[in-house]
Amino acid sequence: MTSSGNRQFQTPRGTRDLLPEDYAIHAHILNHAREQARLAGFGFIEPPTFEQAELFARGVGEGTDIVEKEMYIFEDRGGDRLALRPEGTASVCRAYLQHGMANQTQPVKLAYHLPIFRYERPQAGRFRQHTQFGVEAIGVRDPALDAEVIDLGWRVAQSLGLTDLKILLNSIGDTEDRRAYVPLLKAHFEPHLDNIAPDDRARWERAPMRLLDSKDERTKPYQAGAPLITDHLRPESAAYYESVKSHLEAFDIPYEEQPTLVRGLDYYTHTVFEIVPADIAGSQVTVLAGGRYDGLIEQIGGPPTPGIGFGMGIERVAHHLRDQGLAPDDSTGTEVLIAALGEGADLAASRIAGDLRRSGIAATLAFGGRSLKAQLRQANRVGARFAVIAGARDLAEGRVTIRDLQSSEQREVELDRVTMEIRELGNLAYTPPQE
Ligand code: ATP
Ligand code: MG
Repeated sequence: MTSSGNRQFQTPRGTRDLLPEDYAIHAHILNHAREQARLAGFGFIEPPTFEQAELFARGVGEGTDIVEKEMYIFEDRGGDRLALRPEGTASVCRAYLQHGMANQTQPVKLAYHLPIFRYERPQAGRFRQHTQFGVEAIGVRDPALDAEVIDLGWRVAQSLGLTDLKILLNSIGDTEDRRAYVPLLKAHFEPHLDNIAPDDRARWERAPMRLLDSKDERTKPYQAGAPLITDHLRPESAAYYESVKSHLEAFDIPYEEQPTLVRGLDYYTHTVFEIVPADIAGSQVTVLAGGRYDGLIEQIGGPPTPGIGFGMGIERVAHHLRDQGLAPDDSTGTEVLIAALGEGADLAASRIAGDLRRSGIAATLAFGGRSLKAQLRQANRVGARFAVIAGARDLAEGRVTIRDLQSSEQREVELDRVTMEIRELGNLAYTPPQE
């Protein structure tokens, strides 16, 4: 079978199909995320899947992994250099500027649910296309807003029942704080440059703070004793951080300070945070990450405008839900299966299915003219509560049989009363026993 005509196509490396059982979990997560976003006053936005590549180069930062090696960039037929979205924040900030949202009441609070594309090395929990639920609150610099955004992420996780998580919090200051701090940090690592990982050696030049949370075993031994940004914040930056913590306490949510937490994107300032499993360390398992990005909008050509947001990896949340037995029931919710037997019964069955669906009852037809036994087996498989058995002989007398698949009781009903009977029988199931 070498002919290309018989080739079996597969999903591209690092991508996967979301099958109905996966989709049920994703929809479940999204329902909770939507509800929590609504409760906190966020509206939804959906930017296009591709943008000018330059937006991300400037917004995410030239020196970041995303821009340096993870973007899917292509030139379209008109010669524009475009990129598949590698994160949501730059697009939302672009939309904020493009639609003059600075004229609305600030902050502008936007949420999104988007596919994200990154050319990464595929591994557990790391795909080349993943999905993020994220939020951005733009136009206000206020510790209460930082806490509100963190609280929203926490609430999504809590409402899903994920109680095994914790919030990691840090402040990485602003450019002025870092002007004084970074030389101290570089001096700490400088004597060890020959020993640390080559990637980290390059980072020492352009993003030295990332050495603090490097996972590379060659770099790790030299992290101990490194100066911490939180010990070098200007008084106003330290006060801002203190205030964020007070507001988190007002929201009554727990957090853990992690002074080595830095984020991989250039645009972050002050507050940064992650939500991770309480008992595991490492970046592969982070379910949500975010921070304040007061310099970003200027980077992409707007006036100085503060903002804060996070991205939550839906696939990783789904993984944790499965892991903890919190995944929702993935059945399609079929309530009634209609079995057809004999000549012409399939037409009546279709009519019954149409009637049931029009009155809001989920009905499935058993196709293929199989035996009654096979059709009832299908009813069990789809989790139907009732089977309507439409046999040619009964139909000739204007009747069908309704079988309750829980109690195995069955009764004959007139054809035009099927929907009404099912509704009543279905309700009977919900009335408490009379004994
Ligand atoms: P990591 O440190 O895991 O690479 P990141 O810093 O690149 O994460 P962000 O860009 O902040 O992550 O993305 C927000 C969230 O999106 C992450 O916390 C994670 O849950 C999820 N995420 C990021 N990259 C991937 C990926 N390649 N596959 C699946 N989920 C991802
Ligand atoms: Mg990453």
